[in-house]
Amino acid sequence: MTFDLILGHDRQIEILRRALDADRLAHAYLFAGPDGVGKRLVALALARAIFCVAGVGCGDCAACRKVDHSNHPDLHFLEPDGNSIKIEQIRTLQRELNFKPLEASCKIGLIDHAEALTPGAANALLKTLEEPPGSALLILLSAQPHRLLETIRSRCQPLHFARHPQERIQEVLEQKLGLAETDAHVLASLSDGSFKKALGKDRDLYLERRRELLKTLTGLSSGSILPVLEFAETLAAEKTDLPDILEIFQAFYRDVLLALNNCDKDSLVNLDLLEKIHRVSQRENMSTVLRKLEALAGARKHLERNVNRQLAMEVLLLKLAA
Ligand SMILES: [Zn+2]
Repeated sequence: MTFDLILGHDRQIEILRRALDADRLAHAYLFAGPDGVGKRLVALALARAIFCVAGVGCGDCAACRKVDHSNHPDLHFLEPDGNSIKIEQIRTLQRELNFKPLEASCKIGLIDHAEALTPGAANALLKTLEEPPGSALLILLSAQPHRLLETIRSRCQPLHFARHPQERIQEVLEQKLGLAETDAHVLASLSDGSFKKALGKDRDLYLERRRELLKTLTGLSSGSILPVLEFAETLAAEKTDLPDILEIFQAFYRDVLLALNNCDKDSLVNLDLLEKIHRVSQRENMSTVLRKLEALAGARKHLERNVNRQLAMEVLLLKLAA
């Protein structure tokens, strides 16, 4: 990925490009911004630009290709081991950074989810930030920079990455992927400002599967319990996609709420399901829909706390079917 191929973040890239051209890169950067907006892509593009034989991150030379394949000997990745980044991991990184670079002019350490540093690890990292070994460059990525020690933040040059506006994502989906306007609208609305979500594996979930899931959901009734339990079992088996599925349900009931208030249809997410939204809005009222949205928000919180998924889904669906 070269700088030119990255969608958005023009200002951040310009800052890095200028620093690179003037040979004035900071010793440490903190890329702060929500997950999925492209912090890591920009960090890798920077690594390529620094290591590249042609000096631009050409994408064709051996150095660029090694960065792309995550096997450049001078690029060191660090990410949480389980829930946290531990002090031993920082010590290993420090040892690596203290060696002379093998192929490039400097070594780069990339620390993803830096907010997960344990206090011990953070203090160890602080030493490296105070006295950077040789010409090493550290790039910290974090969606929750406020959780980092102030002393760490103050020693890194911050670069903030914002979510992409929905219209921009929709435009790219239509122009680059040739998606129909309605599909692009749905996908852009559900991607939460993240190109990674809009362009990645979630595409099928947000388009085809969303329609199926909502069909099953709106077909449930509190009078027949078996389909409710079966659907709960299906959902509970969705380990990684479940939060996104609940988000899809939330977006649907928000649409129903908007329909009940006769809002303009452009403010809806599910533009391809207008008839379903209309049908459901006729059997609901403001307070029943709000209760469903509350139940969904509650279920998402419960899931974050690793509760019994099957049980959580049964409780949720019984409320949604009522
Ligand atoms: Zn290159």
